[in-house]
Amino acid sequence: MAAASASTAVADSIWREIKSSRSVSDDHLANLHLLFGDNLESATIIVDQGGVQKHTGNPSGRFIFKVVGKSKETEKYICFPGHFCTCHSFFYDVVSKGERLFCKHQIAFKLAEAAGMCKEVSITDEKLAEILSEI
Ligand SMILES: [Zn+2]
Repeated sequence: MAAASASTAVADSIWREIKSSRSVSDDHLANLHLLFGDNLESATIIVDQGGVQKHTGNPSGRFIFKVVGKSKETEKYICFPGHFCTCHSFFYDVVSKGERLFCKHQIAFKLAEAAGMCKEVSITDEKLAEILSEI
């Protein structure tokens, strides 16, 4: 998994650059595209549509991301800040086959968080627990 962790480190440094400048340059996009391929396009579409919500529990400050899927009215996937998404592709392409570093929802929330484009939603810890229990 050396290649994967090197790629993850490269991705992390790009997220940090985007975060500190609060803007996404063509260079960033080109490098992210090398890492993520077509999933980057899907992720940017999700972010552009305002499809990433950060739900923060009160008072714990723990948070999760809700990311819209293709049919955005009904489908929302839950991503943890660590390495987890509830979508099929995460289990299949990322975990099982190991062909991808992240699913498009994970890329979308990392991009949205770095660029300051998440919708912030404040919820109670009880509500957060409820969301997690539905996974
Ligand atoms: Zn996913």
